[in-house]
Amino acid sequence: MSSNFISHIIDQDLEQGRHEGRVQTRFPPEPNGFLHIGHAKSICINFGLAERYDGRCNLRFDDTNPEKESQEYIDAIKSDIEWLGFSWNGDVRYSSSYFEELYAFALQLIDSGKAFVCSLSPEQAREFRGTLTEPGRDSPDRERSAAENRDLFERMRAGEFPDGQYSLRLKIDMASPNINMRDPVIYRIRRVVHHQTGDAWSVYPMYDYAHCLSDAIEHVTHSLCTLEFEDHRPLYDWILENLDPESLRAACERAGNMGGASNYVLPKQTEFARLNLNYTIMSKRKLRELVEQGDVDGWDDPRMPTISGLRRRGYTPAAIRNFIDSVGVSRGASIVDVGMLEHAVREDLDHNAPRAMCVLRPLKVTLSNFPEGEQETLRLPRHPKQDMGERELPFGRELYIDRSDFEEVPPPKYKRLTPDKEVRLRGAYVIRCDEVIKNDAGEVVELICSYDENTLGKNPEGRKVKGVIHWVPAAAAVPAEVRVYDRLFHKENPDDKALESFRDSLNPQSLQVLTGCLVEPSLAEAVPESQYQFEREGYFCADQHDSKPGVPVFNRTVSLRDSWAKMNK
Ligand code: ATP
Ligand code: MG
Repeated sequence: MSSNFISHIIDQDLEQGRHEGRVQTRFPPEPNGFLHIGHAKSICINFGLAERYDGRCNLRFDDTNPEKESQEYIDAIKSDIEWLGFSWNGDVRYSSSYFEELYAFALQLIDSGKAFVCSLSPEQAREFRGTLTEPGRDSPDRERSAAENRDLFERMRAGEFPDGQYSLRLKIDMASPNINMRDPVIYRIRRVVHHQTGDAWSVYPMYDYAHCLSDAIEHVTHSLCTLEFEDHRPLYDWILENLDPESLRAACERAGNMGGASNYVLPKQTEFARLNLNYTIMSKRKLRELVEQGDVDGWDDPRMPTISGLRRRGYTPAAIRNFIDSVGVSRGASIVDVGMLEHAVREDLDHNAPRAMCVLRPLKVTLSNFPEGEQETLRLPRHPKQDMGERELPFGRELYIDRSDFEEVPPPKYKRLTPDKEVRLRGAYVIRCDEVIKNDAGEVVELICSYDENTLGKNPEGRKVKGVIHWVPAAAAVPAEVRVYDRLFHKENPDDKALESFRDSLNPQSLQVLTGCLVEPSLAEAVPESQYQFEREGYFCADQHDSKPGVPVFNRTVSLRDSWAKMNK
């Protein structure tokens, strides 16, 4: 993790001895969907800063909304973070495991006259809240006695009242210019089963209340979140400052979270700008809509901006981390070009992906002067620069090239195969096209060519053969399915307010399934998730779920063309 304004804040805190040298962060996802590339930024910041300062980062599920959450999401989030290469401090944590502590803090606020039970319905409460330009009005229940508040809150917990009949609110200031400070609700009645606590609770804390207290219980030093929480910071601080500091320290100790410190210091919230990408939607709610409407094949569809989708597409953890690092951390909101992410993927795969040949739309070539029944074995390096060893490729009388590498009537400057002209087969010989065979419909079905046996790996003196095309041997090639993915949205801003729905921005050509492709024999057993550069076609990976030994399925990760790198030269 490079230096940024947050690392500067941490440097200062460390210099001033604020936390006895400790750096404790946390990543707090709500388990109501899969993580997306935006979350990767928060993950890299929280785990990255902990790594940089030899500190710790907790994984805490912010699970205060049981109706929308599930174990499936918890499992997926854990596996995504591990895949990105980060490990959390100790056990996974849950806001729900602090429910008992949070309840005790609420009683403390009630007893000190800082919280009250309110009987306004949600609609009335909205009306009483006021607007940005008008102050709110006090709830008629605001002056209820502490004893009565305590009794009602205990009965709320016991499940005596239906959902929505009462709420617990802080007593702050209904005239505050910050609406978050207008006696915010901190508990509501929800008589639902929770994925972690079962039916133990009938009241659930609100995010703002649970979040700062969970940070305090975990003795977080730097509570990092996105800019939309800036207006919530006064509430974050108010709650912590209006509780007895000794009681906060005691809760932290009970949970075993002092982290070797002798002083208890309250967490401080710092906000940074969210990651926004063009051509991309980053909202769990909308991503869920795509899954539920069947626009994509699940949360890990290779077109999804989810971590698991990017993984299945063939993006690597290193590429994602490098991309996040290159975007940087600041407080200025901006929209990043998705081409920059694709560039990071190409850079990583260019270094690390072995080369191979795959013919997407096969066209048969017969070498008339190659002896029938004979075969040579060619050895090609797996990578042009890295030492990855060699692969073997049989070469015989029949082979396949890509349909798009032959033109009967070539356009100007065409460097591939045309009648009576020569081209080099990658890693093999120069061939000349002597005859074009067509079917009754006039389509080219086969080329009769001749090869020059003196051209293996070199151009003989005076011979200029510029074009190089890829190929596979007919006898040994392995049939494969190839899924060519393109961007899921074809609009730069899929969320354009002029559209009725963001789903109107979906790219109808985002998936093209090519069957009957042919790959070189070394790819028959491609391990799921292994990446390749298919020469001249792009970067591909064997599908995580569907690729099987002998029956490979490949996903196109990204094309070879890198317009972003060119634009920024
Ligand atoms: P979404 O709006 O996509 O549903 P969220 O903010 O509700 O996301 P959480 O599970 O609450 O999702 O997010 C966990 C953490 O990830 C939070 O700290 C949040 O600020 C951060 N985060 C979410 N989206 C982004 C983003 N686009 N860029 C950076 N951080 C993000
Ligand atoms: Mg959220």
